[in-house]
Order: sequence, then C-alpha cells, then structure tokens
Amino acid sequence: MSVLDFITRQLTDDEWMNDAACKGMTHLFFPTPAERPQTRERREDAAREVCASCPVMVTCRDFARDQHEYGLWGGESEDERHSAGYRLIAPIGVRARQSG
Ligand code: SF4
Repeated sequence: MSVLDFITRQLTDDEWMNDAACKGMTHLFFPTPAERPQTRERREDAAREVCASCPVMVTCRDFARDQHEYGLWGGESEDERHSAGYRLIAPIGVRARQSG
C-alpha cells in the first residue's frame, strides 16, 4: 500500500463498516496463498451469500471499487471489479485467471 493510499483510506468515512454482516468472517472474503480455483469458487459463493443479506452491500461494493481493494467486497470479486473497469493497482493473479 502506498502512502497516498494509506492517507486516502484514513480520510474515508468507514462508519458503514460497523453494520457489516461479515464481521469475524475474513477467511471467506480473502484467498489463502495458492488457493485452488475450485476452493476459490466455493469460498466466494459462501461470501456472496453473506453479502446478499448485508445492509451495506452497495456502499461496500462502491468503496472497494474506489479503493482498488483485493478480495470479495459487496458481493463482487476482485476479478469482477477488474472486468467492470475498476482496475486493481497490481493485478497479479487477475490477468492469469482471465486469460485462461
Ligand atoms: S457487502 Fe459483503 S463484504 Fe461488504 S460489508 Fe457486507 S457482508 Fe461484508
């Protein structure tokens, strides 16, 4: 994370996170190192189910798009954000997954 990203994040209104339905479920929203594709699919499906009932889903999705976040936010994976034009800062795995 760059210094500019850090400062931007500090200035971002993140009170909406208090209403997140995913508290304590970080393992569902971010991959483990060398996660297999089938495991990723199952994990992201489970995360999307949590997001579907979350009261801050749209705010969360928009935050992740603006902040170039990794992981699944607001029911949207980093691949989906990338494809929608919200580029990751360093899309290490996305290009490999999307070129297959
Ligand atoms: S939309 Fe999903 S990732 Fe975002 S706060 Fe809600 S449960 Fe968490």
